Amino acid sequence: MENRRVRLRFAPSPTGGLHMGGVRTALFSYLFAKKHNGDFILRIEDTDQTRYVKGAEEYIIESLKWCGIEPNEGVGFGDGPYAPYRQSERKELGIYKKYSDQLIASGYAYYAFDTSDELDAMRKRLEAAKVVAPQYNSVSRQNMRNSLTLSEDEVKKLLDAGTPYVVRLKVPRNEEIRFHDIIRGWVVVNSTQVDDKVLLKSDGMPTYHLAHIVDDIEMEISHAVRGEEWLPSAPSHVLIYRYLGLEDKMPLLAHLPLILKPDGNGKLSKRDKSGIPMFPIDWYDERTGEKYVGYRETGFFPEAFVNMLGMLGWNPGTTQEIFSLQELISAFSFERVNKSGAKFDPEKTKWFNQQYLRMKSDAELAKLFAPILEEKLKGTVELQHRGSDYLQGVCKLVKEKAHFVSEFWDAGNYFFIAPTSYDADVIKKRWNDQSASFIKAVAESFKSLNTFTASETELTFKAIAETQGIGAGQVMQLFRVCLSGVGGGPMLFEMVELLGKDEVVKRLETATNSIK
Ligand code: GLU
Repeated sequence: MENRRVRLRFAPSPTGGLHMGGVRTALFSYLFAKKHNGDFILRIEDTDQTRYVKGAEEYIIESLKWCGIEPNEGVGFGDGPYAPYRQSERKELGIYKKYSDQLIASGYAYYAFDTSDELDAMRKRLEAAKVVAPQYNSVSRQNMRNSLTLSEDEVKKLLDAGTPYVVRLKVPRNEEIRFHDIIRGWVVVNSTQVDDKVLLKSDGMPTYHLAHIVDDIEMEISHAVRGEEWLPSAPSHVLIYRYLGLEDKMPLLAHLPLILKPDGNGKLSKRDKSGIPMFPIDWYDERTGEKYVGYRETGFFPEAFVNMLGMLGWNPGTTQEIFSLQELISAFSFERVNKSGAKFDPEKTKWFNQQYLRMKSDAELAKLFAPILEEKLKGTVELQHRGSDYLQGVCKLVKEKAHFVSEFWDAGNYFFIAPTSYDADVIKKRWNDQSASFIKAVAESFKSLNTFTASETELTFKAIAETQGIGAGQVMQLFRVCLSGVGGGPMLFEMVELLGKDEVVKRLETATNSIK
């Protein structure tokens, strides 16, 4: 194990859109693989044809691409030496059947011919006998129709006649099963609690239990990282490796903690109502007609989403919160993944986006804002032909209070369209003959300013206030409303400078003429 090449796989089933919990599993696997110069593989586990959802595979690939956590081998990312990477195609290689046959031949698995009616009857029988968790196991199997209870002749006859069967793992009675989990430490389970898992279904398809083990062996996977929901079946998996005589091939296991609802009450669901998306990108489930919005479409930056996910259940052991993907790779270890569930925090999620928004240059933000602006200004006569410097200037001012670029328009549309109405509360409170003549005086003085900068205009503004015996603070907000129509916004005189002399004077004159 020590000298094994580090190879981790992300192995989703294409049964729907990839929930952010799934993306986190991919992320942690990716981080660990990259940190150890290993491989990160995408394997599609599509053996359950009844749960197959069209478009899910493409969705998974696109989501990983958007997040920037790209596998170096696997479906959608170029075949490596272990192709194919889709289990339905791997079945054609005969590998699942081969391993299943080996388990049967060595007496660790058996054929079970029970019909669904017979399985129902068994469940009812056990329930009537007050068995807490009725299951097909080392005790109940003795009363069922399988190759352990039937004679060899009967079994042969049934098989020859093409009777449907499944292959089940023969779990021993009352044996201790121990395994190590990198996150949880040693786990000990008594085999009495472990059912005889189906390995091969009647349609010849392997179940997850058999298929992922065969593939992890064949693909030389070193670490299997997956959600906590798989922990209860891990003992069965340990037995399968043991019975195949391949315990040394077993990947190290890491079961990630659940992601909990914001109030900590239960598992986060894809229908969470916190207002923050649960899916990386928009997902539309054709089968159910359900639509889910994505982080991407909501305006989250992939770096912010990934950073947030990285901190969900993992901590660096320091107070640092902002991590680039590269920094996450360097800092990551499974030892610092918590055992207990991680609470999802919608506010913190927005906070992450805000941090990344602030880190962007004004030029980058202007590029992102431009298409929104174009859409908003389409067909308006007020469309102002200002240069890209102006747009960057707007971004610089409005980004301070925003979490998303999409908020820029609401926060600063007046940079592009002069106000036609004015905040009624402010007007009611502050507009009177004195203030009106103050604003007129400001407009007049601004006209003669040669350098129209924030500091010059502020000095002029304050000087006039002083001459007129008005406290500058008293007219500041009114002045702002005259320029923008609204009572709040970015730094006032920065805004004045950006709007420019002509526009400011025009707006002040319009305001004094129209406000009654
Ligand atoms: N196909 C399984 C799932 O989607 C993968 C679990 C694993 O990673 O082993 O949950």
